[in-house]
Amino acid sequence: MGAADLVSLGWNERWQTLWGDEAPDDSAPGRVIRHDGVAALVALASGTGHVALSGAVGPVTVGDWVAVEGAGDDGIGESARVGAVLTRSSLLERRDPSVNSAQLLAANVDRVVMVCGADRPLRHGRIQRGAALAWEAGAVPAVVVTKADLTDDMESLLEEVRTADPGLDVLATSAVTHVGIDDLAGLIGHGTVVFIGESGAGKSSLVNALAGEQVAVARNVRSGDAKGRHTTTTRQLHVLPTGGCVIDSPGIREMGIWATSDSVDAAFGDIGDLAAHCRFNDCAHGTEPGCAVMAAVADGTLDADRLASWRSLREEAAAAQLRNDPRARKQAGKRFGKMAREAQKYRQGR
Ligand code: GDP
Ligand code: ZN
Repeated sequence: MGAADLVSLGWNERWQTLWGDEAPDDSAPGRVIRHDGVAALVALASGTGHVALSGAVGPVTVGDWVAVEGAGDDGIGESARVGAVLTRSSLLERRDPSVNSAQLLAANVDRVVMVCGADRPLRHGRIQRGAALAWEAGAVPAVVVTKADLTDDMESLLEEVRTADPGLDVLATSAVTHVGIDDLAGLIGHGTVVFIGESGAGKSSLVNALAGEQVAVARNVRSGDAKGRHTTTTRQLHVLPTGGCVIDSPGIREMGIWATSDSVDAAFGDIGDLAAHCRFNDCAHGTEPGCAVMAAVADGTLDADRLASWRSLREEAAAAQLRNDPRARKQAGKRFGKMAREAQKYRQGR
């Protein structure tokens, strides 16, 4: 990648404002395209290159906006280093409850797009988990059912998603016929999205279809040598010709990423809305009289499977939270509040 236009990378007024407060003097703004261990591949207006990381600025991940110190005018020199990481607008992270640290997966994403292949059964549990993770990160979830060319009945697949996951944006695409690719580009707009979904779902092929060229390594187009394979395990940000950015995340599985009960609730806003009408504030939606949730299941407005998923994800989140240390819990608490308010605003705004 040569010199990058900061606006195509997602630079906007928010970053401009933060820049004034957070960037060291004589530094240049850049976006992390890839994390390569001791260095980050960073795109700046003057060029793209490796920039050394120092522990002093904290962990850095793909999608971060950073202040680069010591970059030359015509690209990035040997002495370039990350001097600051701008305050993130969202953060997708993996938290292993057994160790006391979080692994950063992607920063500053507006949307988490769950990619499902039409050539295999839809897994609603995964979609619901992904939606919870999106809210947890501070991003808005969406579902893409791809490989439309491999099914005769895309409409019923979409209907299935709409029933199991009401309120989620859902699109049909094909990387082969390019059906829906413009719609997906429209959904991304000038924002940044991260694709998640199981291996083989069609994520890399979608990145390539959006980019209009081969930028991500899809599984069946590996270069002949065995080394080609390892490139698929690197998370990387791609700038689209239409203006937005996509982070392809071969390493990100929705399974096992830490979510909180509040972000689970944000993903199941319809159930929360119903619960507000239960007779008792502490209704467990079991056999209580005047339970609006059970009434909705009885009259068919709420899918019983969806209620069951909500229960099991909530239990899982509660267990994970308990295993976490109090400090992490407290920090997360601040984020839930913000996230839940944003989820609420988002739902009300649509
Ligand atoms: P990823 O692991 O999620 O990145 O999935 P890939 O993009 O590597 O795709 C997995 C397989 O599905 C590859 O063999 C692709 O060629 C195939 N594939 C991806 N998208 C489509 C599509 O829209 N239509 C068809 N027929 N095959 C697709
Ligand atoms: Zn109830």
